[in-house]
Amino acid sequence: MPKKTPQEPITVGFIALGCPKNIVDSEKMLGKIAQADLLITAEPYSADVVVINTCGFIAPAADEALQAIRHALDCKTAGKVKKVIVAGCLCERLRTELFNRAAGIDAIVGLGQRDAIAGIIKKTFHRDKSAAYLQTSSQKVADDRARLLITPGHWAYLRISEGCDRRCSFCTVPAIRGRFRSKPRKEVLAEAAELVRAGAIELNVIGQDTTNYGRDLKFKNGLSKLLGELEKITGIAWIRLMYLYPAAITDRLIETIAKSEKTVHYIDMPIQHINDKILKDMRRPDTKERICSLVENLRRNLPDIVLRTTLIVGFPGETEDQFDELLKFVKWARFDCLGSFRYYPEYGTPAAEMHNQVPDQVKQERLEQLMLTQQKIAFKKNNERIGSKLSCLVDSVDNNGIGRGRFYGQAPDIDSICIIENCLVKPGQFVDTKVTAAKDYDLIVKQI
Ligand code: SF4
Repeated sequence: MPKKTPQEPITVGFIALGCPKNIVDSEKMLGKIAQADLLITAEPYSADVVVINTCGFIAPAADEALQAIRHALDCKTAGKVKKVIVAGCLCERLRTELFNRAAGIDAIVGLGQRDAIAGIIKKTFHRDKSAAYLQTSSQKVADDRARLLITPGHWAYLRISEGCDRRCSFCTVPAIRGRFRSKPRKEVLAEAAELVRAGAIELNVIGQDTTNYGRDLKFKNGLSKLLGELEKITGIAWIRLMYLYPAAITDRLIETIAKSEKTVHYIDMPIQHINDKILKDMRRPDTKERICSLVENLRRNLPDIVLRTTLIVGFPGETEDQFDELLKFVKWARFDCLGSFRYYPEYGTPAAEMHNQVPDQVKQERLEQLMLTQQKIAFKKNNERIGSKLSCLVDSVDNNGIGRGRFYGQAPDIDSICIIENCLVKPGQFVDTKVTAAKDYDLIVKQI
């Protein structure tokens, strides 16, 4: 690769992996890179420097990250790339072991060093020795303002906290992201206002445990009060709550959502399982009785509520009967959206040390059976919506005038969509529609 003249900017390719919280980190790093006379290229694997922001909370995510890293290293060997920098959660989990897992990495960057990425790129580009930029994650929540958005701009993620104080026995997140800490209210509101000025009308509120917001700031009912303040920001149409901890959803929060004009009647609350013994072994305070009454309470107070959850199958010791109990619960609860994982024994977690691990094949069979059960429910619910009217936020329109958008009950990137026939409005605008059909998980609607 020819030597760069001082005038020529270093080109940077960026690979953003992982969950919405990691997307926010990627957007912040892209913001820092763009502000630092570095040139972000659309062809990441032919840039001077490739930065891969990794996920690492379970084995498949770590494998995906290592695959992207190894591909970048192959490009380096082929002379298409000069330097490879790895950032994010996998760096927190593996630390310098990462150099052994993927020989040739030039720098690894921990979560605490996120905002120093531009300087690290320049230093790495001009150095031949590899380096590790790791430090214990700071007790302060990073400031996420001045991001370069990866999301389309009319919607964005608003991270209100970092880390988690819960100790679910299967989860690596607290070890990766540290103790729970709320982002100061003023910063959240300033960030929300900045996103709205940049064109966002939908804010998706995220954190590892959004329900815990304010607890560390002695700010009682923190999430409800924060919603009340976000509500006052002109220009926001939709506020969506993600990652709510079931046991921490209060009547006060439900009331706040019911009274709000902007907080959509959509709740994402990972419950993970329903059997009391499994929940106890997961070290989750929920019980079957409490979860069922929460679902009923939500539907009673928010009749048009759309519920999303996440379930784990094959947790150590899970018997056929306990799995059947989970299936029966899914049929009873009729969630609108449901994601499910096979259990992965992650080193460093208590559950990985448990005996009676469930064989992989059994886990896979249970996962397929669970998702098939949910598919029937989702398809039936979709058919029940035919003929109804929905206000959709348009995310894109193709050359044939076919729009892709979402009604309030569909979160971006993880849920199904509305396919809008003869869509005459632009992305980022709302359109009144009528549901004419269902196509698998998606709804077919026409503009009215
Ligand atoms: S609440 Fe979520 S992030 Fe926190 S330990 Fe449990 S599963 Fe992990």
